[in-house]
Amino acid sequence: MSRIIFILVLLVVGYLLLKSWQRRHDLTQQHKNTSGKIPNNTRMVRCLHCNLHVPEHEAISQGGKHFCSLEHATQHLTKS
Ligand SMILES: [Zn+2]
Repeated sequence: MSRIIFILVLLVVGYLLLKSWQRRHDLTQQHKNTSGKIPNNTRMVRCLHCNLHVPEHEAISQGGKHFCSLEHATQHLTKS
């Protein structure tokens, strides 16, 4: 009888260890996803005015041209 209890305790402890390991694994995965400033799938575009590379979603796009800031966009577009 004590053998069965021992096996049950082992199973419960094993289950709990697995659960805590999974939670820790999930947390580190989440941390990895949020700690990177720029996700790997972000396309980088070059500012036509100063050649600075910026993520596409942060760039100012005007007629297929990309700029790092509104200031550079207006400077470049008024110049040409
Ligand atoms: Zn620029």
